[in-house]
Amino acid sequence: MRKHAAISIGLLMACSLAIAGCKPESLVSTSQEVEIGRNASQQVESKYPVNKDPELNRLVTTMGQTLVQYSDRQDIKYTFKILDMKEVNAVSLPGGWIYVYKGLIDDTKDDPNELAGVIAHEIGHIAARHHAEMIGRETFAGILVQTLTRGDVRQWANLFANLHLLRWSRKHEYESDRLGVKYAYQSRYSAEGMINFFEKLEQKRKDDPSRFEQIFRTHPVTAERIKRARAFLADLKAGRRDP
Ligand SMILES: [Zn+2]
Repeated sequence: MRKHAAISIGLLMACSLAIAGCKPESLVSTSQEVEIGRNASQQVESKYPVNKDPELNRLVTTMGQTLVQYSDRQDIKYTFKILDMKEVNAVSLPGGWIYVYKGLIDDTKDDPNELAGVIAHEIGHIAARHHAEMIGRETFAGILVQTLTRGDVRQWANLFANLHLLRWSRKHEYESDRLGVKYAYQSRYSAEGMINFFEKLEQKRKDDPSRFEQIFRTHPVTAERIKRARAFLADLKAGRRDP
């Protein structure tokens, strides 16, 4: 604990010296991230219904672990679970927990590449350390907070466990799309799946708004997102970018 505090204070000083170049996620260690995620996952699983269907869980876990092999982040263990909720969404917690809503599985039955694409996008949020960035930014804003205390861990876990409150910025979405497309492209799934899925969302929302409200809040979908993801995939396929 003392070592952690020393590291964090050191990082905070380094950040203060060069604010422009400081990355907020550098203030949060992987072990802190995992601690917050574990705590949040326990809350999620006591608060929301968890689907125990072995076949469905095998499908999601196999898909997730296949994609994880291509993740840029291998210092954590990834866990995939299904929430028995009719809404169409998927969420991730700090440290490697990914929850797929049953509504998303039902909605992507015709093309498993769509489900794989959304899972790959969630892996992207974790790989790019977006949760740590969110936590680090707040920690840095409250400059007196030099390290995450047990209370902070609990507070952040409570926040992440409220799945309907999670909001990613467009910048986070662009980055997760890019990583998701890359992981799907490198795996045996078609990278078009995620893009097609997001492209169809607007129309689907019109038909059944209540099921799609959450995904639009958590991962704001824009025409620009789809355009960028398509361009990125075209570059990958043409060899203009290294995977
Ligand atoms: Zn997202």
